[in-house]
Amino acid sequence: MATTTTPINALTAAAFATPEKFTAFCANGGQPLGGIIGGKRISGSMNATFQTTDPGSQEVLATVSEMGEAEVSHAVDAATQAFHGNGSQGWRDVAVEERIALVNRLVELCERDQEVLLACEIRDGGKVSELAEGDLTQIRACAEYFCDVARKIPMGDGPATQISDEMTGATYREPWGVVAGIIPWNYPVVLTSWFIFPALLAGNTVLIKPAEDTPLSALYIGQLAEEAGFPPGVINVLPGRGEITGQCIAEHPGVRYISFTGSPGVGQSILRTCDRHGTRMKREMGGNGSAIVLADADPPVVGRLVGRHTNQHYGQTCCTIHRVFVDAKIADDFIDVQRDFFTGLKIGYQADEGTQLGAVVNSTQRRRILQAQQEAAARGGQPILAGGPAEVSGRDGFYLKPALFRTTPGVECNPAEVFHTFATVCPVDSAEEALALANSSPYGLGASVWTQDVERGIALAKQFRDGTCQVNCHNSIAYGLPYGGQGISGGPGGGVNCEDTFLDYTQVKAVYVSAYPG
Ligand code: NDP
Repeated sequence: MATTTTPINALTAAAFATPEKFTAFCANGGQPLGGIIGGKRISGSMNATFQTTDPGSQEVLATVSEMGEAEVSHAVDAATQAFHGNGSQGWRDVAVEERIALVNRLVELCERDQEVLLACEIRDGGKVSELAEGDLTQIRACAEYFCDVARKIPMGDGPATQISDEMTGATYREPWGVVAGIIPWNYPVVLTSWFIFPALLAGNTVLIKPAEDTPLSALYIGQLAEEAGFPPGVINVLPGRGEITGQCIAEHPGVRYISFTGSPGVGQSILRTCDRHGTRMKREMGGNGSAIVLADADPPVVGRLVGRHTNQHYGQTCCTIHRVFVDAKIADDFIDVQRDFFTGLKIGYQADEGTQLGAVVNSTQRRRILQAQQEAAARGGQPILAGGPAEVSGRDGFYLKPALFRTTPGVECNPAEVFHTFATVCPVDSAEEALALANSSPYGLGASVWTQDVERGIALAKQFRDGTCQVNCHNSIAYGLPYGGQGISGGPGGGVNCEDTFLDYTQVKAVYVSAYPG
């Protein structure tokens, strides 16, 4: 746990100047940015375009072509051909070291153009630089981890078993073929990396469907993949709306596997579609993260740390803290610290020096958050900070004030994920009561215990019904440890970023061999 001498601040913006290369990429010579299919830029047969904007200013950054049913079919064909090869070696047959070399080259190009990708995260995604810079380091970290995993996990024939005098059997592990990643808007670079590296290294060809709000980084990475030398059709990028482009991907029987990250409602709906034609799917979905603060915790330290985690990307982080259960003996002090932390957040434009709480991604999110703030009060939450709209001088963005409510056990004022700097703090009489309340949510993504008694913290943390259970930390990610959800937050399987994730992008079959009869 941090000591009181360590300054505990919210993630903060440095001034960010938009690089010319990003502006030129967005302008695209006056043409809409097309999808990337089979190595070609595709403008789309629907002739439909959409604009992607900076959420902090509503400045239009780029016009993007929307990919419809015809383009999804075209992309599936291109990816299928790239998988099998067309008279030459397909991606499935490319040696793992060759795949690794291409992945490494792509990582180098992402690092060469990190200012452009930073601009994607900061201008298109609305992030502060401190968070965006951390996100970019995940490209290399994720790629290197999965390169190691790809070297380690054998594909193809498993060890043979003698089943009878006449029969042997063995497993055969192979990539699925065409797999799709449906990506949300909050961590576009990170989540695109988490999808493409294990999927490609396992030998699949990929379709990336970025969120409508943040299509730029996937399109830029698609362009860099061509420069890196990936064969055409191995990486395809399909920008568009979820209900059009995303739905067409879910409905296409040629897509063998879908990795979905997003909200539980959309994930459940896509799962039903996939089930109709046998497409496998894994889901990494929303959370309503909890923190239990025990009586031995130091409110000035833990109150600020919990505040920092609640405010990560202005609360638009899937596993972050929105429900706090604090021992009643320290509750008043804790709430005072958290209130002061929230009140001290500098609301501003995300590319301006010092900003800690920028605009939320779009007007729909803004409306949902305002409604949730009002409902929390209507359902019995006692407003410490009531939230509401915020103004940032000279910027026409989706700005909101943080919200903090005091609540009591049994008051259901925070039942669903509110994607903002929004928390309820509930004083409790025991850790057991806190655990029962934390686990009463249908979500199960991230939870933490805060205490000086680390052994007790570990024992409690293991009882969370969450995919990520933490002691004196939160929002932690390490490659090799699964990052996934229980309850409505995810499944099936362990989650992303572990060896199981690589296996998720493969299928295994049994091959039985008998001597020819007679
Ligand atoms: P959504 O579920 O709204 O969208 C996620 C993706 O699905 C987007 O690309 C969206 O496209 C697409 N989509 C929407 N409708 C359909 C459809 N009918 N068929 C196919 N695709 C569709 O989530 P958000 O983008 O709002 O992202 C925020 C959510 O993601 C939060 O719940 C957050 O907690 C969760 N999340 C979970 C993570 C995890 O690791 N567990 C990590 C990060 C976020 P479009 O944008 O065009 O609508």
